[in-house]
Amino acid sequence: LLMAYDPARRLARLQVQMERAVVNARMIYEILDIEPHQRDKPDAKPLAVTQATIEFRDVSFSYANGGKSILNGVSFIAEGGRTTALVGPSGAGKSTVISLIPRFYDPASGQILIDGQDIANVTKQSLRNNLAYVSQQPYLFEGTIRDNIRYGRPEASDAEVEEAARLAYAHDFILDQPQGYETPVGENGVTLSGGQRQRLSIARALVRNAPILLLDEATSALDTESEQAVQKALEHAMSGRTVVVIAHRLSTVVNADKIIVMQSGTVAEEGTHDILAGRIDGLYARLHNLQAPGVPMQENEKEAGE
Ligand code: ATP
Repeated sequence: LLMAYDPARRLARLQVQMERAVVNARMIYEILDIEPHQRDKPDAKPLAVTQATIEFRDVSFSYANGGKSILNGVSFIAEGGRTTALVGPSGAGKSTVISLIPRFYDPASGQILIDGQDIANVTKQSLRNNLAYVSQQPYLFEGTIRDNIRYGRPEASDAEVEEAARLAYAHDFILDQPQGYETPVGENGVTLSGGQRQRLSIARALVRNAPILLLDEATSALDTESEQAVQKALEHAMSGRTVVVIAHRLSTVVNADKIIVMQSGTVAEEGTHDILAGRIDGLYARLHNLQAPGVPMQENEKEAGE
């Protein structure tokens, strides 16, 4: 227990938290970025998406060369047009799995395929054009509400921006702002509630109209009304897309087409809620039984050593 108060360890943990915040911001910037920073392979081809099925094939990964291994032989398939929920204790590797899909990092071994194409062999631009990302902490840029939504696809028309806002249940509150869609947000703009910010970031993902949605579900609860609006907005964003979601809400997990239960960088179990909940000694059943509806899954079980 005393170890937890060791300043060096605290500093190390703070460092990881900071790096993760940076990765989160990078996810948002770079998925939207049209000019990816890392170079493509000389013979890289554009990704050709048909079903938008994602496959992890025996993927292992560590953040630093020769560093602690974070993923160990992770294999699973996220079927095209379906929702795959990643669950598991804090530190199990869920965020790491998500961050490999846009290629913020490359696996040490194994492959990630989209419709049979190894993403290591496709251009990053074509890969990221097919992805949208909604994070736990919605990020708003300096600029107007319209700019913030359009950032998802700079060539979107005003009508497309507004259609995305409607689908994200944001249109009405946007019209209530002093200058409607032209109202400045960000540091020097109006202050929006957490739920409103989330709906704007969902509108940004919707206007992108990408076949794959990566979603890091919020852990902190909003008030009931915002919560419902955000849930409906997310339903629109998820509909018809391949969704890989780090799920914190029981309802998301129960409704997922497939659940991947992660533990210590491996896939401990996979299946539907009914199947996994029925395995008396399974990790999922343990996580699930501990949980009352609406309570974030993660608070229940922490990885040993956390
Ligand atoms: P949580 O639910 O708490 O977000 P998670 O299941 O998403 O956890 P990851 O965030 O993928 O887990 O973290 C897996 C492991 O990788 C943890 O031990 C974490 O400390 C470590 N880690 C995460 N990001 C980095 C990073 N940028 N550099 C070094 N280590 C990292």
